[in-house]
Amino acid sequence: MYRSVLRMNDTCPVCGHTFEREQGFFQGAMYVSYVLASATFAVFALLAQFWLAPRIGQAAGFAVALAVHLPLVPQLWRYSRVVWAHLNVGTIQ
Ligand SMILES: [Zn+2]
Repeated sequence: MYRSVLRMNDTCPVCGHTFEREQGFFQGAMYVSYVLASATFAVFALLAQFWLAPRIGQAAGFAVALAVHLPLVPQLWRYSRVVWAHLNVGTIQ
């Protein structure tokens, strides 16, 4: 689906499928992105709460969890569009 880190192909280079079926199609990917980002950050926050907070404090542990999470945001954004596109495979175009 992607030709570079942040650039999508308009169509599939193999089968010609148009990824953005209609204007705004990928707005639904925001919901997937929200779920993925919330889940991954919750895991990092829980790990920080139990492993880091007793050693370096809660605020520093939260900062570490955030620092680990932020570099993943572009990948989560990309993957949310892939998941959204796959959830809509087979629906009427
Ligand atoms: Zn294809």
